[in-house]
Amino acid sequence: MSREMARRISGLLWAVVILVVACGSPAAAPPATASPALLTRPAEATVAAATPVAAPSQPAPSPSPTELTAPPTPELTPTVEARPSSDRVVELGAQAWDFLTAFTQDFSPRESGTAQEKAAADFLAARFESLGYDVSLQPFKVDVASAEVLIGPEGQDFRSIPLTRSGQGSVTGFLVDAGRAMEEDNISAAEFGGKIALIERGAITFEAKVQRVTEAGAVAAVIYNDRPRLFGGTLSTEASIPVAALSRESGTAILRLLTEGDVEATVSATFGQRDSQNVIAEMRGTAADGGIVILGGHYDTVADVPGANDNGSGIAALVTLAAEVAGESYPFTTRFIPFGSEELGLLGSGAYVDSLTEEERQAIIMMLNFDALATGDVVGLLGDLELMGAAVDFGRANGIEVERRFSLSAGTSSDHARFQQAGIPVVFFLADDFSRIHTAADTLEFVQPELMGGSVALAIHLLESVAGR
Ligand SMILES: [Zn+2]
Repeated sequence: MSREMARRISGLLWAVVILVVACGSPAAAPPATASPALLTRPAEATVAAATPVAAPSQPAPSPSPTELTAPPTPELTPTVEARPSSDRVVELGAQAWDFLTAFTQDFSPRESGTAQEKAAADFLAARFESLGYDVSLQPFKVDVASAEVLIGPEGQDFRSIPLTRSGQGSVTGFLVDAGRAMEEDNISAAEFGGKIALIERGAITFEAKVQRVTEAGAVAAVIYNDRPRLFGGTLSTEASIPVAALSRESGTAILRLLTEGDVEATVSATFGQRDSQNVIAEMRGTAADGGIVILGGHYDTVADVPGANDNGSGIAALVTLAAEVAGESYPFTTRFIPFGSEELGLLGSGAYVDSLTEEERQAIIMMLNFDALATGDVVGLLGDLELMGAAVDFGRANGIEVERRFSLSAGTSSDHARFQQAGIPVVFFLADDFSRIHTAADTLEFVQPELMGGSVALAIHLLESVAGR
Protein backbone atom coordinates (compact mmCIF):
# COMPACT_ATOMS: atom_id res chain seq x y z
CA MET A 1 0.00 0.00 0.00
CA SER A 2 0.87 3.35 -0.11
CA ARG A 3 -0.78 6.59 -0.35
CA GLU A 4 0.55 10.21 -0.15
CA MET A 5 1.37 14.26 0.38
CA ALA A 6 2.92 17.54 1.34
CA ARG A 7 2.33 16.27 4.71
CA ARG A 8 4.52 18.28 6.93
CA ILE A 9 2.29 21.00 8.17
CA SER A 10 3.70 20.40 11.58
CA GLY A 11 4.99 16.94 11.71
CA LEU A 12 3.01 13.95 10.60
CA LEU A 13 -0.62 14.15 9.69
CA TRP A 14 -2.79 11.27 10.61
CA ALA A 15 -6.39 10.35 10.18
CA VAL A 16 -8.40 10.71 13.28
CA VAL A 17 -10.58 7.93 12.16
CA ILE A 18 -8.03 5.25 11.56
CA LEU A 19 -8.77 2.17 13.47
CA VAL A 20 -8.07 -0.11 10.63
CA VAL A 21 -5.37 0.93 8.29
CA ALA A 22 -5.65 -0.45 4.90
CA CYS A 23 -3.25 -2.82 3.43
CA GLY A 24 -2.05 -4.26 6.51
CA SER A 25 -0.57 -1.79 8.85
CA PRO A 26 -1.67 -1.77 12.45
CA ALA A 27 -3.78 1.24 13.27
CA ALA A 28 -1.84 4.46 12.84
CA ALA A 29 1.52 2.81 12.79
CA PRO A 30 4.11 5.08 11.23
CA PRO A 31 4.61 4.16 7.61
CA ALA A 32 8.37 4.30 7.69
CA THR A 33 8.62 1.86 10.54
CA ALA A 34 5.74 -0.45 9.82
CA SER A 35 6.27 -4.05 10.71
CA PRO A 36 7.62 -6.07 7.83
CA ALA A 37 4.96 -8.73 8.06
CA LEU A 38 1.93 -6.63 7.34
CA LEU A 39 -0.32 -9.10 5.73
CA THR A 40 -0.19 -12.72 6.42
CA ARG A 41 -0.51 -15.84 4.43
CA PRO A 42 -3.40 -17.88 5.70
CA ALA A 43 -2.81 -21.15 7.41
CA GLU A 44 -3.81 -24.09 5.27
CA ALA A 45 -6.08 -25.17 8.08
CA THR A 46 -8.32 -22.16 7.55
CA VAL A 47 -9.43 -23.39 4.15
CA ALA A 48 -12.92 -24.11 5.38
CA ALA A 49 -13.35 -20.71 7.01
CA ALA A 50 -16.78 -19.32 6.29
CA THR A 51 -15.74 -15.69 6.37
CA PRO A 52 -13.17 -14.84 3.72
CA VAL A 53 -11.61 -11.91 5.57
CA ALA A 54 -10.87 -12.98 9.08
CA ALA A 55 -8.29 -13.47 11.73
CA PRO A 56 -6.52 -15.50 12.89
CA SER A 57 -3.64 -15.97 10.57
CA GLN A 58 0.00 -16.68 10.69
CA PRO A 59 2.95 -14.41 10.10
CA ALA A 60 4.01 -14.07 6.52
CA PRO A 61 7.14 -15.96 5.64
CA SER A 62 10.22 -13.80 5.39
CA PRO A 63 11.32 -13.05 1.88
CA SER A 64 14.00 -15.38 0.70
CA PRO A 65 17.46 -14.03 -0.06
CA THR A 66 16.85 -14.50 -3.76
CA GLU A 67 13.78 -12.31 -3.58
CA LEU A 68 15.83 -9.62 -1.98
CA THR A 69 18.75 -9.79 -4.31
CA ALA A 70 17.21 -10.64 -7.65
CA PRO A 71 15.09 -7.74 -8.81
CA PRO A 72 12.84 -8.64 -11.69
CA THR A 73 13.20 -7.03 -15.03
CA PRO A 74 10.44 -6.01 -17.37
CA GLU A 75 11.64 -8.53 -19.93
CA LEU A 76 10.36 -11.74 -18.47
CA THR A 77 10.20 -15.24 -19.61
CA PRO A 78 6.93 -17.00 -18.91
CA THR A 79 6.98 -18.83 -15.59
CA VAL A 80 5.19 -21.77 -17.19
CA GLU A 81 6.30 -22.47 -20.69
CA ALA A 82 4.35 -23.94 -23.57
CA ARG A 83 1.02 -23.01 -22.03
CA PRO A 84 -1.32 -20.99 -24.20
CA SER A 85 -1.78 -18.01 -21.88
CA SER A 86 1.80 -17.47 -20.82
CA ASP A 87 2.67 -15.17 -23.67
CA ARG A 88 -0.51 -13.26 -23.00
CA VAL A 89 0.35 -12.90 -19.33
CA VAL A 90 3.82 -11.64 -20.18
CA GLU A 91 2.39 -9.19 -22.69
CA LEU A 92 -0.18 -7.85 -20.19
CA GLY A 93 2.52 -7.69 -17.53
CA ALA A 94 4.75 -5.66 -19.83
CA GLN A 95 1.94 -3.18 -20.49
CA ALA A 96 1.30 -2.82 -16.77
CA TRP A 97 5.02 -2.44 -16.14
CA ASP A 98 5.30 0.38 -18.67
CA PHE A 99 2.50 2.25 -16.99
CA LEU A 100 3.79 1.55 -13.49
CA THR A 101 7.31 2.80 -14.13
CA ALA A 102 6.06 6.15 -15.44
CA PHE A 103 3.37 6.48 -12.77
CA THR A 104 5.80 5.70 -9.96
CA GLN A 105 8.45 8.06 -11.25
CA ASP A 106 6.05 10.94 -11.84
CA PHE A 107 3.46 10.55 -9.08
CA SER A 108 5.08 9.13 -5.96
CA PRO A 109 4.42 9.56 -3.13
CA ARG A 110 0.67 10.23 -3.25
CA GLU A 111 -0.32 10.72 0.35
CA SER A 112 -3.99 11.16 1.18
CA GLY A 113 -5.39 14.67 1.03
CA THR A 114 -2.35 16.21 -0.61
CA ALA A 115 -1.72 18.01 -3.86
CA GLN A 116 0.23 14.95 -5.03
CA GLU A 117 -2.77 12.73 -4.51
CA LYS A 118 -4.90 15.16 -6.51
CA ALA A 119 -2.32 15.34 -9.31
CA ALA A 120 -2.32 11.55 -9.54
CA ALA A 121 -6.14 11.56 -9.67
CA ASP A 122 -6.13 14.09 -12.51
CA PHE A 123 -3.56 12.03 -14.40
CA LEU A 124 -5.58 8.85 -13.99
CA ALA A 125 -8.78 10.64 -15.01
CA ALA A 126 -7.12 11.80 -18.24
CA ARG A 127 -5.81 8.31 -18.86
CA PHE A 128 -9.23 6.66 -18.55
CA GLU A 129 -10.76 9.42 -20.68
CA SER A 130 -8.23 8.73 -23.41
CA LEU A 131 -9.37 5.09 -23.34
CA GLY A 132 -12.95 6.17 -24.05
CA TYR A 133 -14.42 6.05 -20.55
CA ASP A 134 -16.78 8.64 -19.05
CA VAL A 135 -14.78 9.99 -16.14
CA SER A 136 -15.67 11.99 -13.07
CA LEU A 137 -13.99 12.77 -9.79
CA GLN A 138 -15.87 12.03 -6.59
CA PRO A 139 -14.64 14.40 -3.88
CA PHE A 140 -14.83 13.60 -0.17
CA LYS A 141 -13.35 14.97 3.02
CA VAL A 142 -10.80 13.21 5.20
CA ASP A 143 -10.21 13.99 8.83
CA VAL A 144 -6.59 14.50 9.61
CA ALA A 145 -4.89 15.06 12.91
CA SER A 146 -1.43 16.33 13.67
CA ALA A 147 0.61 16.61 16.82
CA GLU A 148 3.87 18.32 17.57
CA VAL A 149 6.13 17.80 20.55
CA LEU A 150 8.96 20.32 20.77
CA ILE A 151 11.52 19.85 23.53
CA GLY A 152 14.09 22.11 25.13
CA PRO A 153 15.35 25.60 24.32
CA GLU A 154 16.06 24.62 20.71
CA GLY A 155 12.61 23.18 20.23
CA GLN A 156 13.80 19.75 19.12
CA ASP A 157 10.94 18.17 17.17
CA PHE A 158 9.96 14.67 18.33
CA ARG A 159 7.75 12.83 15.89
CA SER A 160 4.33 12.29 17.40
CA ILE A 161 0.69 11.42 16.75
CA PRO A 162 -2.24 12.84 18.68
CA LEU A 163 -4.34 10.22 20.42
CA THR A 164 -7.84 10.01 19.03
CA ARG A 165 -10.08 12.25 21.18
CA SER A 166 -7.10 14.32 22.33
CA GLY A 167 -7.90 17.89 23.30
CA GLN A 168 -6.94 20.48 20.71
CA GLY A 169 -4.53 23.34 21.17
CA SER A 170 -0.93 24.18 21.94
CA VAL A 171 0.57 24.51 25.40
CA THR A 172 4.05 25.14 26.78
CA GLY A 173 5.25 23.99 30.17
CA PHE A 174 7.83 22.01 32.09
CA LEU A 175 7.80 18.26 31.77
CA VAL A 176 7.27 15.99 34.77
CA ASP A 177 7.91 12.24 34.73
CA ALA A 178 4.63 10.57 35.70
CA GLY A 179 5.81 6.98 35.38
CA ARG A 180 2.85 4.99 34.12
CA ALA A 181 0.48 7.41 35.88
CA MET A 182 -0.82 4.62 38.09
CA GLU A 183 -2.44 5.27 41.44
CA GLU A 184 0.80 4.42 43.25
CA ASP A 185 2.66 7.04 41.22
CA ASN A 186 1.08 9.65 43.50
CA ILE A 187 0.24 12.16 40.81
CA SER A 188 -0.26 15.35 42.82
CA ALA A 189 -1.43 18.84 41.99
CA ALA A 190 1.66 20.22 43.70
CA GLU A 191 3.87 18.41 41.22
CA PHE A 192 1.74 18.43 38.04
CA GLY A 193 -0.27 21.65 38.19
CA GLY A 194 0.50 23.67 35.02
CA LYS A 195 3.02 21.05 33.86
CA ILE A 196 3.20 18.55 31.02
CA ALA A 197 3.00 14.93 32.12
CA LEU A 198 5.42 12.51 30.50
CA ILE A 199 3.77 9.10 30.81
CA GLU A 200 4.84 5.58 29.89
CA ARG A 201 2.29 3.48 28.00
CA GLY A 202 1.05 0.26 29.58
CA ALA A 203 -0.69 -1.48 32.52
CA ILE A 204 -3.81 0.74 32.54
CA THR A 205 -5.87 2.51 29.88
CA PHE A 206 -4.81 5.73 28.20
CA GLU A 207 -8.04 7.13 29.58
CA ALA A 208 -7.10 6.40 33.20
CA LYS A 209 -3.62 7.88 32.78
CA VAL A 210 -4.86 11.07 31.15
CA GLN A 211 -7.69 11.49 33.64
CA ARG A 212 -5.27 11.20 36.57
CA VAL A 213 -2.85 13.84 35.32
CA THR A 214 -5.69 16.12 34.15
CA GLU A 215 -7.21 16.03 37.63
CA ALA A 216 -3.81 17.01 39.03
CA GLY A 217 -3.81 20.09 36.76
CA ALA A 218 -1.46 18.96 33.98
CA VAL A 219 -1.89 21.06 30.82
CA ALA A 220 -0.86 18.32 28.38
CA ALA A 221 0.10 14.65 28.38
CA VAL A 222 2.78 12.98 26.30
CA ILE A 223 2.60 9.18 26.30
CA TYR A 224 5.63 7.24 25.12
CA ASN A 225 5.47 3.66 23.93
CA ASP A 226 6.31 0.70 26.17
CA ARG A 227 7.85 -1.08 23.17
CA PRO A 228 9.87 0.17 20.21
CA ARG A 229 8.43 2.69 17.78
CA LEU A 230 5.55 5.10 17.63
CA PHE A 231 1.95 4.04 18.19
CA GLY A 232 -1.56 5.24 17.60
CA GLY A 233 -4.00 5.23 20.49
CA THR A 234 -7.60 6.12 21.25
CA LEU A 235 -9.12 7.64 24.35
CA SER A 236 -12.61 6.46 25.25
CA THR A 237 -13.81 10.01 25.95
CA GLU A 238 -12.74 13.46 24.79
CA ALA A 239 -9.74 14.77 26.70
CA SER A 240 -9.62 18.40 27.79
CA ILE A 241 -5.84 18.63 27.26
CA PRO A 242 -3.62 17.80 24.26
CA VAL A 243 -2.48 14.15 24.39
CA ALA A 244 0.34 13.11 22.07
CA ALA A 245 2.00 9.73 21.48
CA LEU A 246 5.76 9.31 21.18
CA SER A 247 7.99 6.37 20.33
CA ARG A 248 9.79 4.57 23.13
CA GLU A 249 13.05 5.88 21.69
CA SER A 250 11.84 9.48 21.97
CA GLY A 251 10.47 8.92 25.47
CA THR A 252 13.74 7.45 26.65
CA ALA A 253 15.70 10.35 25.19
CA ILE A 254 13.45 12.87 26.95
CA LEU A 255 13.70 11.00 30.26
CA ARG A 256 17.47 11.24 29.94
CA LEU A 257 17.19 15.02 29.50
CA LEU A 258 15.00 15.18 32.61
CA THR A 259 17.74 13.60 34.72
CA GLU A 260 19.95 16.56 33.79
CA GLY A 261 17.50 19.28 34.82
CA ASP A 262 14.27 21.08 33.94
CA VAL A 263 12.97 20.49 30.43
CA GLU A 264 10.46 22.78 28.81
CA ALA A 265 8.20 21.46 26.08
CA THR A 266 5.52 22.65 23.70
CA VAL A 267 2.80 20.14 22.87
CA SER A 268 0.25 20.80 20.14
CA ALA A 269 -2.60 18.77 18.77
CA THR A 270 -4.76 19.93 15.88
CA PHE A 271 -7.53 18.36 13.86
CA GLY A 272 -8.87 19.36 10.51
CA GLN A 273 -10.19 18.17 7.19
CA ARG A 274 -8.62 17.84 3.79
CA ASP A 275 -9.89 17.06 0.34
CA SER A 276 -9.47 13.67 -1.27
CA GLN A 277 -11.17 12.07 -4.26
CA ASN A 278 -12.03 8.90 -6.13
CA VAL A 279 -11.71 8.66 -9.89
CA ILE A 280 -14.76 7.01 -11.48
CA ALA A 281 -14.41 5.84 -15.09
CA GLU A 282 -17.45 4.24 -16.63
CA MET A 283 -18.28 2.32 -19.80
CA ARG A 284 -22.00 1.80 -20.25
CA GLY A 285 -23.20 -1.75 -20.80
CA THR A 286 -25.27 -2.74 -23.81
CA ALA A 287 -28.20 -4.06 -21.76
CA ALA A 288 -30.54 -1.62 -20.02
CA ASP A 289 -30.54 -3.67 -16.84
CA GLY A 290 -27.24 -5.47 -17.33
CA GLY A 291 -25.94 -4.59 -13.90
CA ILE A 292 -22.62 -3.03 -12.87
CA VAL A 293 -19.16 -4.48 -12.33
CA ILE A 294 -16.79 -2.43 -10.18
CA LEU A 295 -13.03 -2.71 -10.75
CA GLY A 296 -11.15 -0.81 -8.08
CA GLY A 297 -7.90 -0.24 -6.27
CA HIS A 298 -6.40 2.61 -4.29
CA TYR A 299 -3.98 5.08 -5.80
CA ASP A 300 -2.93 6.87 -2.60
CA THR A 301 0.24 5.93 -0.72
CA VAL A 302 1.44 6.42 2.82
CA ALA A 303 3.88 9.28 3.29
CA ASP A 304 7.36 9.26 1.82
CA VAL A 305 7.24 5.94 -0.03
CA PRO A 306 7.39 5.07 -3.73
CA GLY A 307 4.43 2.72 -3.37
CA ALA A 308 5.40 0.66 -6.41
CA ASN A 309 3.72 -2.49 -5.11
CA ASP A 310 1.28 -0.77 -2.73
CA ASN A 311 -0.51 0.25 -4.73
CA GLY A 312 1.07 1.31 -8.00
CA SER A 313 0.80 -2.34 -9.03
CA GLY A 314 -2.96 -2.43 -8.52
CA ILE A 315 -3.43 0.81 -10.44
CA ALA A 316 -1.23 -0.48 -13.26
CA ALA A 317 -3.37 -3.63 -13.40
CA LEU A 318 -6.55 -1.53 -13.46
CA VAL A 319 -5.32 0.73 -16.25
CA THR A 320 -4.10 -2.25 -18.29
CA LEU A 321 -7.41 -4.01 -17.77
CA ALA A 322 -9.34 -0.86 -18.75
CA ALA A 323 -7.34 -0.62 -21.96
CA GLU A 324 -7.92 -4.30 -22.76
CA VAL A 325 -11.69 -4.24 -22.33
CA ALA A 326 -12.38 -0.70 -23.59
CA GLY A 327 -13.57 -2.07 -26.92
CA GLU A 328 -15.75 -4.85 -25.49
CA SER A 329 -19.51 -4.65 -25.57
CA TYR A 330 -20.39 -6.14 -22.23
CA PRO A 331 -24.04 -6.26 -21.24
CA PHE A 332 -23.11 -4.81 -17.83
CA THR A 333 -21.65 -1.41 -17.12
CA THR A 334 -17.98 -1.49 -16.11
CA ARG A 335 -16.87 1.09 -13.58
CA PHE A 336 -13.14 1.49 -12.92
CA ILE A 337 -12.51 3.28 -9.64
CA PRO A 338 -9.08 4.32 -8.41
CA PHE A 339 -9.87 5.09 -4.76
CA GLY A 340 -8.28 7.87 -2.71
CA SER A 341 -7.33 7.72 0.96
CA GLU A 342 -7.37 3.97 1.40
CA GLU A 343 -4.37 4.19 3.69
CA LEU A 344 -6.30 6.35 6.15
CA GLY A 345 -8.85 3.61 6.68
CA LEU A 346 -10.57 2.67 3.38
CA LEU A 347 -12.02 6.17 3.17
CA GLY A 348 -12.40 6.44 -0.61
CA SER A 349 -14.16 3.11 -1.03
CA GLY A 350 -16.25 3.91 2.04
CA ALA A 351 -17.30 7.25 0.53
CA TYR A 352 -18.16 5.52 -2.73
CA VAL A 353 -20.24 2.73 -1.17
CA ASP A 354 -22.00 5.28 1.04
CA SER A 355 -22.91 7.29 -2.06
CA LEU A 356 -24.70 4.36 -3.73
CA THR A 357 -28.46 4.26 -3.83
CA GLU A 358 -30.04 0.99 -2.77
CA GLU A 359 -30.93 0.36 -6.40
CA GLU A 360 -27.32 0.89 -7.54
CA ARG A 361 -25.97 -1.30 -4.77
CA GLN A 362 -28.25 -4.12 -5.81
CA ALA A 363 -27.20 -3.70 -9.45
CA ILE A 364 -23.56 -4.41 -8.64
CA ILE A 365 -22.74 -7.92 -9.81
CA MET A 366 -19.24 -8.07 -8.37
CA MET A 367 -16.35 -5.91 -7.21
CA LEU A 368 -12.76 -6.79 -8.07
CA ASN A 369 -10.10 -5.09 -5.93
CA PHE A 370 -6.46 -4.85 -6.93
CA ASP A 371 -3.98 -4.03 -4.18
CA ALA A 372 -0.31 -4.86 -3.62
CA LEU A 373 -0.38 -7.68 -6.12
CA ALA A 374 3.06 -7.59 -7.71
CA THR A 375 5.62 -8.78 -5.15
CA GLY A 376 5.75 -12.44 -4.26
CA ASP A 377 5.45 -15.81 -5.90
CA VAL A 378 1.87 -16.19 -7.07
CA VAL A 379 -1.29 -14.27 -7.78
CA GLY A 380 -3.42 -14.54 -4.65
CA LEU A 381 -7.19 -14.26 -4.50
CA LEU A 382 -9.46 -13.68 -1.55
CA GLY A 383 -13.21 -13.29 -1.48
CA ASP A 384 -16.25 -14.89 -3.06
CA LEU A 385 -15.75 -18.66 -3.28
CA GLU A 386 -17.52 -19.15 -6.59
CA LEU A 387 -15.72 -16.30 -8.35
CA MET A 388 -12.36 -17.40 -6.92
CA GLY A 389 -13.04 -20.94 -8.07
CA ALA A 390 -13.71 -19.77 -11.62
CA ALA A 391 -10.53 -17.73 -11.64
CA VAL A 392 -8.39 -20.51 -10.19
CA ASP A 393 -9.71 -23.05 -12.70
CA PHE A 394 -8.95 -20.68 -15.56
CA GLY A 395 -5.50 -19.93 -14.17
CA ARG A 396 -4.61 -23.61 -13.78
CA ALA A 397 -5.76 -24.36 -17.31
CA ASN A 398 -3.76 -21.48 -18.72
CA GLY A 399 -0.45 -21.52 -16.94
CA ILE A 400 -1.13 -18.72 -14.46
CA GLU A 401 0.19 -19.37 -10.97
CA VAL A 402 -2.74 -18.54 -8.73
CA GLU A 403 -3.91 -19.55 -5.28
CA ARG A 404 -6.81 -18.82 -2.98
CA ARG A 405 -6.40 -17.09 0.33
CA PHE A 406 -8.86 -17.33 3.14
CA SER A 407 -7.87 -14.65 5.59
CA LEU A 408 -5.89 -11.52 6.23
CA SER A 409 -4.25 -10.78 9.55
CA ALA A 410 -6.30 -8.95 12.14
CA GLY A 411 -6.53 -5.22 11.58
CA THR A 412 -5.66 -5.41 7.90
CA SER A 413 -7.89 -4.84 4.97
CA SER A 414 -8.34 -3.16 1.64
CA ASP A 415 -11.07 -1.46 -0.36
CA HIS A 416 -13.04 -4.62 -1.20
CA ALA A 417 -14.04 -4.76 2.47
CA ARG A 418 -16.45 -1.83 2.08
CA PHE A 419 -18.23 -3.63 -0.75
CA GLN A 420 -18.22 -6.93 1.06
CA GLN A 421 -19.80 -5.26 4.08
CA ALA A 422 -22.53 -3.98 1.74
CA GLY A 423 -23.29 -7.54 0.64
CA ILE A 424 -21.56 -7.34 -2.74
CA PRO A 425 -19.54 -10.34 -4.02
CA VAL A 426 -15.84 -9.40 -4.13
CA VAL A 427 -12.52 -10.79 -5.26
CA PHE A 428 -9.36 -9.23 -3.87
CA PHE A 429 -6.25 -9.69 -6.03
CA LEU A 430 -3.08 -9.58 -3.94
CA ALA A 431 0.36 -11.15 -3.89
CA ASP A 432 2.13 -12.84 -1.00
CA ASP A 433 5.16 -10.76 -0.09
CA PHE A 434 4.20 -7.69 1.93
CA SER A 435 7.57 -7.22 3.57
CA ARG A 436 8.30 -3.84 1.96
CA ILE A 437 4.85 -2.34 2.16
CA HIS A 438 4.74 1.13 3.74
CA THR A 439 8.52 1.40 3.56
CA ALA A 440 10.94 3.26 1.34
CA ALA A 441 11.90 -0.14 -0.11
CA ASP A 442 8.55 -0.51 -1.87
CA THR A 443 10.31 0.23 -5.15
CA LEU A 444 10.02 -0.85 -8.77
CA GLU A 445 12.91 -3.29 -8.52
CA PHE A 446 10.80 -5.71 -6.45
CA VAL A 447 7.82 -5.59 -8.80
CA GLN A 448 7.18 -8.72 -10.84
CA PRO A 449 5.33 -7.79 -14.02
CA GLU A 450 3.98 -11.28 -14.60
CA LEU A 451 1.98 -11.06 -11.36
CA MET A 452 0.27 -7.94 -12.72
CA GLY A 453 -0.25 -9.67 -16.06
CA GLY A 454 -1.69 -12.74 -14.36
CA SER A 455 -4.12 -10.65 -12.32
CA VAL A 456 -5.30 -8.82 -15.44
CA ALA A 457 -5.77 -12.08 -17.38
CA LEU A 458 -7.79 -13.60 -14.53
CA ALA A 459 -9.92 -10.44 -14.23
CA ILE A 460 -10.65 -10.48 -17.96
CA HIS A 461 -11.75 -14.08 -17.60
CA LEU A 462 -14.14 -13.15 -14.78
CA LEU A 463 -15.60 -10.32 -16.89
CA GLU A 464 -16.06 -12.70 -19.82
CA SER A 465 -17.68 -15.27 -17.52
CA VAL A 466 -20.10 -12.77 -16.05
CA ALA A 467 -20.92 -11.65 -19.59
CA GLY A 468 -21.82 -15.27 -20.32
CA ARG A 469 -19.13 -15.79 -22.91
ZN1 LIG B 1 -2.71 -0.95 -0.51
